[in-house]
Amino acid sequence: MKFSEIIINWYIKNKRKLPWRKTKDPYKIWLSEIILQQTRISQGTPYYLNFIEKYPTIENLATEKEINILKIWQGLGYYSRAINMHKTAKFIFNEKKSIFPKKYNDLIKLKGVGPYTAAAISSICFDEKRAVLDGNVFRILSRYFKINDPINSNLGIKKFTKLSNKLVSESEPGNYNQGMMDLGSTICKPKNPLCNLCPLNKSCKSKKEEKFNLPNKLKLKKNKTRYLVYLIVKHYGKYYVKKRLSNDIWRNLYDFPLIEFKNSNENNDKNILIKLKNMLKNKDIMINQKVNINYKLTHQNLNISFVTLIGNIVFKSKKFEIVSKNKLMSLPVPKPIENFIGNI
Ligand code: SF4
Repeated sequence: MKFSEIIINWYIKNKRKLPWRKTKDPYKIWLSEIILQQTRISQGTPYYLNFIEKYPTIENLATEKEINILKIWQGLGYYSRAINMHKTAKFIFNEKKSIFPKKYNDLIKLKGVGPYTAAAISSICFDEKRAVLDGNVFRILSRYFKINDPINSNLGIKKFTKLSNKLVSESEPGNYNQGMMDLGSTICKPKNPLCNLCPLNKSCKSKKEEKFNLPNKLKLKKNKTRYLVYLIVKHYGKYYVKKRLSNDIWRNLYDFPLIEFKNSNENNDKNILIKLKNMLKNKDIMINQKVNINYKLTHQNLNISFVTLIGNIVFKSKKFEIVSKNKLMSLPVPKPIENFIGNI
């Protein structure tokens, strides 16, 4: 039996029951794929269900305000996904009469759609012979064929792309791709693969040698650590906030006035007060409370201090808005701020 037939037969009997598996509507498949980028299925599923309920069609999503989409996305991370998703919805609604592109080569031109998502949509919804390539597929192929090239090297990516496009089924590319996704996440797991349950175990090279240390990856540089100090300033019972507009993490979300230090030694009360005096109209201020937390993003470690200030505080800059606590709770904010404001 061919490799792809083994995968499809296994998939038909063992597929996971996931809400987006009930449809071939490209809008819903696209939504699920965007939500699941860099996200575990258990975390992404409630977001998918929420989006589908609130925006059952691409028109509903395209005509929504970005701020409301970011609020629903809150907690999922990688907010540029939500911003690009909204731009793509608007583009398809305004320029394509709400008709989703069918071909891989057209899908890949959409904002926020990369090779994996374009291959998933074109194969699942339109039976185009395109293979998906993600962590699950890399793991199965590298172990099964014993390929040592690092999966994040140019050579490795070329080799795996060529191989996966050769293996993908001509007649059922969608089932094949979904089979690879499911086999990788439920059987050929990163640690302790369940080879006894695997349909590939008779001819798998790693199984034969009982060595499962593939795939290989090149070591990337260490995560950057940042020292952020958020200033919690009450002005007649309201809070100073601002929209993050720069090309940085959490773009278009709201946060508090911010001071950033380059290293941990600089992050002390004396330096905070020196910086503050340049930001404020009045000078008589005091630090009332300081709460420190660590928060990890994929490529950054954030060392965050929430500093509550007392005094008659007025910022020089006009870029801040002053909002009530209720309004603050309704704005899209980064996860650590959401956690913090739950307690103020
Ligand atoms: S036999 Fe084991 S190592 Fe080989 S593909 Fe299956 S689960 Fe992975």
